[in-house]
Amino acid sequence: MIYVVGHRNPDTDSISSAIGYARLRNACGDADVRPARAGELNAETTFVLRSFDVPVPQLLTDATGLQLILVDHNEVGQAIPHIERAEILEVWDHHRLGDLRPPKPIFFHTEPVGTTATLIGELYFARGVAPTRAVAGILLAAILSDTVLFRSPTASTKDRTVASRLTSLAGVDPTAFGQQMLEIKIASFEHELPPQIVRRDFKEFSLGGQRVGIAQVEVMHPDAISAHKPEILQEMRARRETLGLTAFILMITDVQRGASDLWFVGERAELVEQAFGRRLEDGTIHLPGIMSRKLQVVPRLVAASARVDEMHEAHAATA
Ligand code: MN
Ligand code: MN
Repeated sequence: MIYVVGHRNPDTDSISSAIGYARLRNACGDADVRPARAGELNAETTFVLRSFDVPVPQLLTDATGLQLILVDHNEVGQAIPHIERAEILEVWDHHRLGDLRPPKPIFFHTEPVGTTATLIGELYFARGVAPTRAVAGILLAAILSDTVLFRSPTASTKDRTVASRLTSLAGVDPTAFGQQMLEIKIASFEHELPPQIVRRDFKEFSLGGQRVGIAQVEVMHPDAISAHKPEILQEMRARRETLGLTAFILMITDVQRGASDLWFVGERAELVEQAFGRRLEDGTIHLPGIMSRKLQVVPRLVAASARVDEMHEAHAATA
C-alpha cells in the first residue's frame, strides 16, 4: 500500500490533494494508492468533504516503514512523526524547498502556484482523465481556500485556469461556495479558545539552524482575537516551551483589509525586527499588505536569519 499524505494540522489543500492524487493514480490502474491525513480535520475541510460526499481519509500517526507520497509539504517538522523511517516515493508541493532529504533519487514536483490542488488538477487534464464531480469539487475548494478566494498574492494565472476548468465539472458557484467556506473558517478561528488558536494552522520551520513555529489565523474581525491577547500569548509561551522552539510567531491575517499582525514570543526577536524593518511593540508588528506565510513571511525570516548569522560571525572575528 502507498499512502498519499499532506502536512500535520491538515488544511483543505493537504486533504483534497491527497484524495485527488490517489484517485488519479487509481484511475490510471494503480489500485494500491490510498489517501491519508496527518491529523484531525478543521471545520472548513469537514464542510468541504461533506458537501461533496467524500469520505474522510485514514489517519496516519507514525510513518515508520510506510511507502509515502507527500503533498503540500516537504519539511520534516511538518510531516507525520518518524518521516525519516518512511520510504518517500514522490513529493507534490508549492512551498519552499524544505529540509526533507530522502536517501535516494525521487520524483519531486514543486511550482510557485497558489495550491498543490492546482498541480493535481492540471495533472488530470494532462493525462486526459476527467475528475469526478466530487474530486473536481474538493480540488476547487482547496484552490479557493489556499488563495483566500484569489485575494492572496500567491494566486497565479495557473490557479485561475485550473479552477475554472474544475468549476465546470464541480457544479458549484465558486464565489458563493468559497464565501461559505471562508465564513466557516473565520467563525472557527474567531470562536476558538487560545489553546486551539495556536495549534490549528501551526507549522514548524527550520531557519538557519533555529526551529521557529508560525501559526496563522484568518479573521474578519481582528478584535475578536486581540481581546484574548494575554491568554493567547501565555499559550504561545507554553507551546514554545513544550516544543523546544527558538521562537513562536502568531500571524493574525485580516482577510478584508489584506494585512497581518505578527505576535512574537521567544528568543531572537531581532529576526522579525530585521525581517520587516520594524520594532516589536508590545510583542507585535503590524504589516499592511502581508497575507501569505509562505510567500511573504518565511522568505524574509530566512533572509534575516542569514544576515543575523553573518553579523554574529563578523562580531566573533573582530572580538
Ligand atoms: Mn497546506
Ligand atoms: Mn497548500
